[in-house]
Amino acid sequence: MEYKISEIREASERLRKKFDSLEDKRAILRAPELLALYEQIKTLPQDKRAAFGKELNGLKSDLESLVSSYRPRLKKLSRIDVTAPFDTNIPPEDRPKLLPAEFGSKHPLMVERQIIIDIFGRMGFTAVESREIDDDYHMFSSLNFPPEHPARDDYDTFVTDEGLIAPAHTSTMQNRILRQGKKDLKEGKSIAVIIPDRVFRNEDLDARHEHTFYQIEGIYVDKGIHAGHLVATIRTWLSSYYGKDINIKIQPFYFPFTEPSFEFAASCIFCEGRGCNVCSYTGWIELGGCGMIHPNVLKEAQIDPEIYTGFAWGFGIDRLVMLKYNIEDVRHFQSGNLAFLRQFS
Ligand SMILES: [Zn+2]
Repeated sequence: MEYKISEIREASERLRKKFDSLEDKRAILRAPELLALYEQIKTLPQDKRAAFGKELNGLKSDLESLVSSYRPRLKKLSRIDVTAPFDTNIPPEDRPKLLPAEFGSKHPLMVERQIIIDIFGRMGFTAVESREIDDDYHMFSSLNFPPEHPARDDYDTFVTDEGLIAPAHTSTMQNRILRQGKKDLKEGKSIAVIIPDRVFRNEDLDARHEHTFYQIEGIYVDKGIHAGHLVATIRTWLSSYYGKDINIKIQPFYFPFTEPSFEFAASCIFCEGRGCNVCSYTGWIELGGCGMIHPNVLKEAQIDPEIYTGFAWGFGIDRLVMLKYNIEDVRHFQSGNLAFLRQFS
């Protein structure tokens, strides 16, 4: 539109140029040049006001249609596949190099997870990743949780409309590992596997509970395996991880997938059992659950429980790391708080 009044005509040209350079296009409607013209109306003689006002409103509605018809020119970027486009259990050196690693640092949980994997590597265990979405069979049925069994309620997690499950424990991998390891047993080798991976729970969040955390699961099966092997394995590992001799205390507990089942505690790494505020003056810190693999779980993987026995355990990596560095709140790990993360880089 051409404007008859010269001031509005000039303002129109300036505002159009300004519009092109603005990041926030709507800001043109609040431009000082435009507001100044509105202010000017009341200084004009009565007989000029109506015509001026009409043209000024015309300018404003032109600007409004500029704003509403503006479509930013999008740069075409190459496509990124955010899913893992490779088998998650292939060695790291065989994975595609997707993102440059020169910025930032490793997350403390990943650093500690690798330390744990290395310790178990020296003890003859291989590490396997678990899945972040799984099914009812691997989450419950293969682990001796009958349908409708109340113990399922202790593993309250997230379920998709299709019935798939965000695993509440890394034990979802037990059946797969046992089936795969069956031929090793026949060749006289043991099954010795750890699963250090992410799990999910529908939790009320506080300093000790997160909806997403890491677990370290362990499975060992061979002939003649008993609970003494279980205690010795965990004690050796924890002593190596904390760099000091750790005492273990086990007490009876209930899990559907182990029999007998134990809850185990380690001697407090801060006070070495004398009692301090970290261990609530008990000298012990609860670390997780363990037990001898239930015969039904072995049978489900077609391993004969009359010939082979084994043990399994699972505990939270986050909790182990919190104890190592005396971190007071589990939520720091997922917070993205750089001040926290930089202490570990
Ligand atoms: Zn203590």
